[in-house]
Amino acid sequence: MSQKFDLVVIGAGPGGYVAAIRAAQLGLKTACIEKYQGKEGKTALGGTCLNVGCIPSKALLDSSWKYHDAEESFKIHGISVKGLAMDVPTMISRKDTIVKNLTGGIAMLFKANGVTLFEGHGKLLANKQVEVKGLDGKEETLIADNVIIASGSRPVEIPPTPLNGDTIVNSTGALDFTEVPKRLGVIGAGVIGLELGSVWARLGAEVTVLEAMDKFLPAMDEQVAKEALKVLTKQGLTIKLGARVTGSNVKGKTVTVEYENAEGAQEITFDKVIVAVGRRPVTTNVLADDSGVSLDERGFIFVDDYCATSVPGVYAIGDVVRGPMLAHKASEEGIMVVERITGQKAQMSYGLIPSVIYTHPEIASVGKTEQALKAEGIAINIGVFPFAASGRAMAANDTTGFVKIIADAKTDRILGGHVIGPSAAELVQQIAIAMEFGSSAEDIGMMIFSHPTLSEAVHEAALAVNGHAIHIANRKKK
Ligand code: FAD
Ligand code: AMP
Repeated sequence: MSQKFDLVVIGAGPGGYVAAIRAAQLGLKTACIEKYQGKEGKTALGGTCLNVGCIPSKALLDSSWKYHDAEESFKIHGISVKGLAMDVPTMISRKDTIVKNLTGGIAMLFKANGVTLFEGHGKLLANKQVEVKGLDGKEETLIADNVIIASGSRPVEIPPTPLNGDTIVNSTGALDFTEVPKRLGVIGAGVIGLELGSVWARLGAEVTVLEAMDKFLPAMDEQVAKEALKVLTKQGLTIKLGARVTGSNVKGKTVTVEYENAEGAQEITFDKVIVAVGRRPVTTNVLADDSGVSLDERGFIFVDDYCATSVPGVYAIGDVVRGPMLAHKASEEGIMVVERITGQKAQMSYGLIPSVIYTHPEIASVGKTEQALKAEGIAINIGVFPFAASGRAMAANDTTGFVKIIADAKTDRILGGHVIGPSAAELVQQIAIAMEFGSSAEDIGMMIFSHPTLSEAVHEAALAVNGHAIHIANRKKK
């Protein structure tokens, strides 16, 4: 007999596993289906984020930063290091241990909350039935009152550079290099390309990033993107904009990549190439022909503002639906959906999803950019505070970048926060909290910040919006 659940979730990434745990907390009889097998050949929960995304990339970013810092910056503190050496396999296995602990932690949380895990492939059939093809070969059909599809995304592949698992890899392969490539090519100057390029550049690779677009980080605030390009270039990344990759030739252990730019056809030879040209939603074999769920014109599952699909009682969240491909967006959508299923009035603040690029300095943003607000014709005041004027940043020898706060000129309400600098991810979250509560720049200006902290830069940028910053000369208002 088919098992019946209040909720069946397909996929245990940050969208699916969070939704399943919250649903169980709210008293729903919940099942979650996951097919992914980790490095040890066992089901590993946590999706892209825990297994091959956010967490492993940050583990390597942190290890590589420590090496780089020891090599480049310790001397300014009066510390000399003799015999500094790196051990890439140890870095990789440290990363793998973190992944294993976290994915195992989700399995424990499922047990503790009473979520039933099905290890295998899930497919939505008609009438909210879900077929499970178990990894053990067993097949069964679950009957659900509600279904959440959280099947996530996978890397885009492009014909000019077919992956070969050795010299041409995607982001997953780039998390497992066993040694530092001498010449590393990165195709795509998006978040993933810049983060992974930074890891290997810090460890000594000569990194060239080939980006088809002429503009660097076009979704970011232009002032921040300009600073980021300057800083990353100074760190040794060669970033070629307007360079569209058109082909590649693998010869033994090297790859010659062909690209076109304004001067015509070019080529460049690498020891490894990372293809980081974006991600696409996973919908193949997730929806039966008669499931009734529609896709949008870009191939994402079509949903409304509350993640409801075209079939009542079927929802989709995370990377498989429109919006930024970010773990925290996926998780919050999952929580919203299950809370609404249980009668609560949850909703998403889609305009306030922070995003971060974990380079050094970090680049983080929430709300609208200066260029977007100007294009909308909204009168704004802007406050910028550079870390070069922050005592805490100076103490840490980490003074690159600035905090930028943009407020409505009429109401002083904060409309955007953009930070490039030390701990930008944490600082932008402070601005996001303020924005969620509808704060004005003056509200932040009136708050008391501990001294000395990097957070004082947020305080000063908020003061600067209205020309009251203390530790910089304020721009005269026109
Ligand atoms: P996923 O995490 O992709 O999970 C989907 C799960 O569903 C997978 O486990 C998959 O195996 C499973 N699945 C799919 N189909 C089926 C099926 N039919 N049956 C059973 N199971 C199925 N985001 C951030 O917010 N911060 C970061 O720092 C960050 N860094 C990243 C770094 C890298 C290198 C990459 C690749 C991504 C990064 N991301 C980051 C993006 C983040 O990982 C994704 O946005 C997030 O994982 C999306 O969550 P999800 O639950 O929608 O999908
Ligand atoms: P993102 O979607 O943020 O991960 O970024 C991927 C980047 O890859 C985008 O900026 C694309 O412009 C870039 N890109 C896609 N195809 C190519 C290509 N053939 N050559 C160079 N860059 C590319």
